[in-house]
Amino acid sequence: MLQRITDALLSVVYPSQCQICSSIVDRSSDGAACGDCWDKTRIFSGSEVLCDKCGAFLRETKSSAIVSCHQCEDQHYDRARAIGVYHYALSASVIDLKRSPHIPSKIRELLFATLERSSFTDSTLVVPVPLSAKRSVERGFNQAGVIANILAKETNIPFDELSLVRKIHTPMHRVAMDKKARDLTVRNAFEVKRPKLIAGHDILLVDDVFTSGATVSYCAKVLKKNGARKVNVLTLARAV
Ligand SMILES: [Zn+2]
Ligand SMILES: [Zn+2]
Repeated sequence: MLQRITDALLSVVYPSQCQICSSIVDRSSDGAACGDCWDKTRIFSGSEVLCDKCGAFLRETKSSAIVSCHQCEDQHYDRARAIGVYHYALSASVIDLKRSPHIPSKIRELLFATLERSSFTDSTLVVPVPLSAKRSVERGFNQAGVIANILAKETNIPFDELSLVRKIHTPMHRVAMDKKARDLTVRNAFEVKRPKLIAGHDILLVDDVFTSGATVSYCAKVLKKNGARKVNVLTLARAV
C-alpha cells in the first residue's frame, strides 16, 4: 500500500521518461521502461520451449520432452534461467541497474516468479557474479550483488558475496567482442577465496544478464572445483 502511494507521488513529482521510446513512465514500479515497451518484451511464462540447460528460447509451444539447444553442453553450470529476453524493457532495466542500485517492483515480482518456476529455491547459498575490485570502486556497487541480495533476503537462503572474486579486470566493451574474445577474457578471471564456505553447497549464481554464458560458466567451474555440488544460474535477462 505504502509502495503504491510512494509510486503515485513519485510519478507526479518526477515523471520519468521511458529509456527506450521516451514516453512518460506512468508507474514507477515499471522502472526504466513504459508499459508499452514492457508489452513488447518477451517475458518467459513457462509455456514456451527453453533449452533445459541454458534456458535459450527455442520455440513457442511447449512439449513435454526435455530439449537442448546443443550449444551449451560444455558450459559448467547445471541450469540457467532468466526473466526473459534481453531487449526492450529488460535491456533498459539492466542498463538502468548499472547506474543506480535499485530494483523496481515489477522486476522483483518477475524475478521471484522465475525463481519459483525454475525450482532453484532448493539452493543453499546465493552468490553474485563478482566485479573486479577496480570496477567495484568505480561503480560503487555490484549490480549482480544487488539482485542476489534481494533474492537471498526474500528466500532466507544465505548470501555470500565475498568468497567468489574476480581477479582480472576485464575491459568495458565486452558486448563489442566476439564470442571467442569474450570467452578468453573471463576464462581465468575468477577464484574462490574461502573454499570452506563453498564446499557442499547448491549454489544459486546471480548475474544481471546472460550473454554467451561464458562468465557464469567459468564462475561455475571454479565454484565446483572448490567443492560446490551444484551451480544454477539466475539472471534478469538473456541474449537470444
Ligand atoms: Zn517505452
Ligand atoms: Zn542450451
